[in-house]
Amino acid sequence: MPETSRPTAASAERARSSLDAILKPQAVAVIGASRSPNTIGNQILSNLVTHGFTGAVYPVNPTAKAIHAIKAYPDVRSIPDAVDMAVIAVPKQHVLDVARQCGEKGVQGLVVITAGFKETGAEGAERERALVAVVREHGMRMVGPNCLGVLNADPAYSMNATFAPEMPPFGGSAFVSQSGAMGVSVLDYARDYGIGISQFVSIGNKPDVSGNDLLMQWETDDAVRVILMYVENFGNPRRFLETASRITRRKPIIVMKSGRSQVGARAATSHTGALAASDVAVDALLAQAGVLRAATMEELFDMAMAFGAGPLPKSRRTVEVTNSGGPGILAADAMEAAHLDLVEPADATKDKIRPLLSEEASVRNPLDMVASASPSAYRAALTHLLADPSVDAAVAIFVPPLGVKQEDVAEAIVEASRTAPAKPVIAVLMGRNGLPQGRAELHAAGIPAFIFPESAARAMAALNRYREWLERPIPDRGLLPVDQARAAAIVARAQREGRTKLTELESLDLLSAYGIPTAPAELATSAEAAAKIAARIGYPLVMKIVSPEVVHKSDVGGVKVDVGTMEEVKLGYAEIVRNVTQAVPGATVSGVLMQGMVSGGRELIAGVTRDPVFGPLVMFGLGGIFVEALRDVAFRVAPIGDLDAKDMTGELRGAAILAGMRGQAGVDRGAVADVLRRLSQLAIDLPDVEELDINPLLGFGDKCVGVDGRVRVRPRQQSTVSGQP
Ligand code: ADP
Ligand code: MG
Repeated sequence: MPETSRPTAASAERARSSLDAILKPQAVAVIGASRSPNTIGNQILSNLVTHGFTGAVYPVNPTAKAIHAIKAYPDVRSIPDAVDMAVIAVPKQHVLDVARQCGEKGVQGLVVITAGFKETGAEGAERERALVAVVREHGMRMVGPNCLGVLNADPAYSMNATFAPEMPPFGGSAFVSQSGAMGVSVLDYARDYGIGISQFVSIGNKPDVSGNDLLMQWETDDAVRVILMYVENFGNPRRFLETASRITRRKPIIVMKSGRSQVGARAATSHTGALAASDVAVDALLAQAGVLRAATMEELFDMAMAFGAGPLPKSRRTVEVTNSGGPGILAADAMEAAHLDLVEPADATKDKIRPLLSEEASVRNPLDMVASASPSAYRAALTHLLADPSVDAAVAIFVPPLGVKQEDVAEAIVEASRTAPAKPVIAVLMGRNGLPQGRAELHAAGIPAFIFPESAARAMAALNRYREWLERPIPDRGLLPVDQARAAAIVARAQREGRTKLTELESLDLLSAYGIPTAPAELATSAEAAAKIAARIGYPLVMKIVSPEVVHKSDVGGVKVDVGTMEEVKLGYAEIVRNVTQAVPGATVSGVLMQGMVSGGRELIAGVTRDPVFGPLVMFGLGGIFVEALRDVAFRVAPIGDLDAKDMTGELRGAAILAGMRGQAGVDRGAVADVLRRLSQLAIDLPDVEELDINPLLGFGDKCVGVDGRVRVRPRQQSTVSGQP
């Protein structure tokens, strides 16, 4: 029997054109169209008609002769012409039949509005499976079920096949929403915020058309310049990572993610597992793909506004112009917090601006022109600042004093920005009077206008983050030379012996098989053997208890550092064993690990854990005994490249500590990145390694050395145990 072939470029091409039947149809049937107002079927038909859909519309209703003055048909098969797309809003028990009829009619795309599927439990899930089977059987594509509909605001289609009342203005943003309600509110506010929408898709339960499919569809659609997503869960995070990392090189993707991933819910036995809090995998995935994450709905709007408008700044060098102290300071603080660079304008620029201001005013950044500043002062100051080569962007803040009109200042800002079309200008209009006019004027000129200064700072920072992503080289994800066979053998041996924990020595061995430097170590099973090993390794050294019952060795007096002589080794051996057997009654002692002492490094932590949805995650952070309290860690989804690994070291709150401070040497970020890439490779190569920590990984100016490893492996599969069924 031939295997189902894997999707090829050609089939991806077909998938795209099949989504065109849904997003760019010529003929739409509304099945379940109704004459009674306030029903979904009535509203959708009305939206198609009143917003001027450019194609043909066929209402389908078993009894009505006409709806909204359009001839209706008793079922989809009796429509005399071809139908590209059918919107289905019939009761859930009829959806399957209707879908089948659509298939027979040759309809290519379905938008199933009806709810009562997987979201309602087992029976609904079964109905959804049957529906998907019908869709596949007839080679159709399906948006929904349980969705709000689809919309294409391009005047060539002007299609509002949703039951949301508003038609947003046409523009460059495409929006896919997993929640219908989020969709309604974005469409509702789009006009006010000046966010132009090209297409909108509410994907509902997404058993067929997913967010990933729409990303691919919009990747090549030139009408789409910005992609907005509201996501509750990632169906296929790996495919998202792959698709989104490619698309963000061409157009920005802004994601608002709600809900929590599963990692935190599991009982974790390693530091890495415990530190992988609920949302880290999502943050990691989005960061790696160059996707901008909006933390709140407000931020989603802010970013959508900024990206839908003007150019990207060439650098973070930004000037601020204001007519009021308080908001000006708030904005400056927010801009500094967002790592924008409030540059000093050139002397020549200052000389030009000085005559515009009162005598006491000093020309600085932020430039406070005080309340009396006229529209023409705004125009002149901004024009001079934007002409300055050391300035790449501007934020103009206006609080209306008596006598100066908001719309006049808006006009002045527009005129100034026209003199420097390559430099983005963001406006903040803080008064309510004249706000709609002022805003409309700015939006028409491609200048985002916010109400609060913090929004402007955040938006400008997001524009810069995206530009920096575009400038970033493609990470090197090449494989490093490792001894995979040796590592796999270590894991297999533990599994064979029925263990889920590697011993200290095995853990360190596993790391060195993957090229991660470790301190030399050997196991001693008597004080005499310990003395011999010590002579081989050399002093000073560290002695550690090895016992399957002991998890944190130093907590039970099981670690002696800086052991300098043979006498200390012999006494130490007895002492460690005594400490541990007292602290953990019944502990079995396998011996004492003799390890070379590595002094003077910074204590770091690195590790691997697995998320049930996202797969292996690599972690890095500041280690030591406070690691759980500080939670200063960064995660990425494996596999990671060199730049991803470097990003992880840069993103810690304690990044300055890594860089070296107060006379203490820094840690080589390249060496850390090398360890992280090797861990990533290990996580991919050895799926039976469930959790791994190196704590501490000691970091130096030129290298990193692991001195303590903890590895948990998956129990041996029941089915592979010999003699068992
Ligand atoms: P555990 O985490 O089980 O208590 P470790 O092996 O991590 O045991 O040892 C505890 C601490 O001792 C480490 O966090 C580190 O500060 C120090 N230490 C352990 N091994 C070495 C070594 N080889 N060189 C220097 N310091 C070490
Ligand atoms: Mg440790």
